[in-house]
Amino acid sequence: MRLLILSLLIYLAYRLFKNWALPGQSSTGTPEQEGLVMVDDVMVKDPFCETYFPQRNGIKKVIGGQTYYFCSTECRDKYLEAIKDSKQ
Ligand SMILES: [Zn+2]
Repeated sequence: MRLLILSLLIYLAYRLFKNWALPGQSSTGTPEQEGLVMVDDVMVKDPFCETYFPQRNGIKKVIGGQTYYFCSTECRDKYLEAIKDSKQ
Protein backbone atom coordinates (compact mmCIF):
# COMPACT_ATOMS: atom_id res chain seq x y z
CA MET A 1 0.00 0.00 0.00
CA ARG A 2 2.79 2.42 0.89
CA LEU A 3 4.55 1.56 -2.31
CA LEU A 4 1.42 2.51 -4.26
CA ILE A 5 1.24 5.91 -2.54
CA LEU A 6 4.94 6.45 -3.14
CA SER A 7 4.68 5.71 -6.84
CA LEU A 8 1.65 7.98 -7.05
CA LEU A 9 3.67 10.82 -5.46
CA ILE A 10 6.53 10.21 -7.86
CA TYR A 11 4.08 10.28 -10.75
CA LEU A 12 2.56 13.59 -9.53
CA ALA A 13 6.02 15.09 -9.03
CA TYR A 14 6.89 14.02 -12.55
CA ARG A 15 3.72 15.64 -13.90
CA LEU A 16 4.46 18.88 -12.04
CA PHE A 17 8.03 18.91 -13.27
CA LYS A 18 6.89 18.30 -16.82
CA ASN A 19 4.43 21.21 -16.63
CA TRP A 20 7.07 23.42 -15.12
CA ALA A 21 9.74 22.46 -17.67
CA LEU A 22 7.39 22.63 -20.65
CA PRO A 23 4.76 25.29 -20.02
CA GLY A 24 2.17 24.99 -22.76
CA GLN A 25 1.02 27.88 -24.89
CA SER A 26 0.22 30.20 -21.99
CA SER A 27 2.33 33.15 -23.12
CA THR A 28 0.21 34.21 -26.08
CA GLY A 29 -2.16 36.51 -24.20
CA THR A 30 -3.00 39.81 -25.84
CA PRO A 31 -3.47 43.16 -24.08
CA GLU A 32 -6.95 43.32 -25.60
CA GLN A 33 -8.07 40.67 -23.15
CA GLU A 34 -6.92 42.61 -20.10
CA GLY A 35 -10.49 43.30 -18.97
CA LEU A 36 -11.30 39.59 -18.90
CA VAL A 37 -8.04 38.07 -17.75
CA MET A 38 -7.38 38.71 -14.09
CA VAL A 39 -3.74 37.73 -14.23
CA ASP A 40 -1.21 39.77 -12.31
CA ASP A 41 1.51 39.92 -14.93
CA VAL A 42 -0.43 41.03 -18.00
CA MET A 43 1.84 43.09 -20.21
CA VAL A 44 0.39 46.34 -21.48
CA LYS A 45 1.80 49.00 -23.76
CA ASP A 46 2.27 52.60 -22.81
CA PRO A 47 0.56 54.52 -25.63
CA PHE A 48 2.94 57.42 -25.21
CA CYS A 49 6.43 55.93 -25.08
CA GLU A 50 5.36 52.50 -26.46
CA THR A 51 7.08 50.56 -23.70
CA TYR A 52 5.66 47.26 -22.48
CA PHE A 53 5.31 46.79 -18.73
CA PRO A 54 3.25 44.72 -16.24
CA GLN A 55 -0.25 46.16 -15.98
CA ARG A 56 -0.14 46.18 -12.16
CA ASN A 57 2.80 48.61 -12.30
CA GLY A 58 1.00 50.95 -14.67
CA ILE A 59 -0.84 54.20 -14.11
CA LYS A 60 -4.47 53.61 -15.07
CA LYS A 61 -6.34 56.33 -16.88
CA VAL A 62 -9.73 56.25 -18.60
CA ILE A 63 -9.87 58.53 -21.63
CA GLY A 64 -13.08 58.76 -23.63
CA GLY A 65 -14.40 55.52 -22.11
CA GLN A 66 -11.23 53.59 -22.97
CA THR A 67 -8.78 52.43 -20.34
CA TYR A 68 -5.12 53.22 -20.87
CA TYR A 69 -2.12 52.20 -18.83
CA PHE A 70 1.00 54.32 -18.62
CA CYS A 71 4.43 53.40 -17.32
CA SER A 72 4.60 56.61 -15.31
CA THR A 73 2.55 59.67 -14.39
CA GLU A 74 4.94 61.64 -16.59
CA CYS A 75 3.93 59.65 -19.69
CA ARG A 76 0.27 59.93 -18.71
CA ASP A 77 0.50 63.72 -18.46
CA LYS A 78 2.46 64.01 -21.71
CA TYR A 79 -0.03 61.76 -23.50
CA LEU A 80 -2.94 63.85 -22.22
CA GLU A 81 -1.14 66.95 -23.44
CA ALA A 82 -0.50 65.32 -26.83
CA ILE A 83 -4.11 64.31 -27.45
CA LYS A 84 -5.30 67.69 -26.25
CA ASP A 85 -3.00 69.36 -28.80
CA SER A 86 -4.10 67.05 -31.62
CA LYS A 87 -7.74 67.97 -31.07
CA GLN A 88 -7.09 71.68 -31.55
ZN1 LIG B 1 5.97 55.64 -20.76
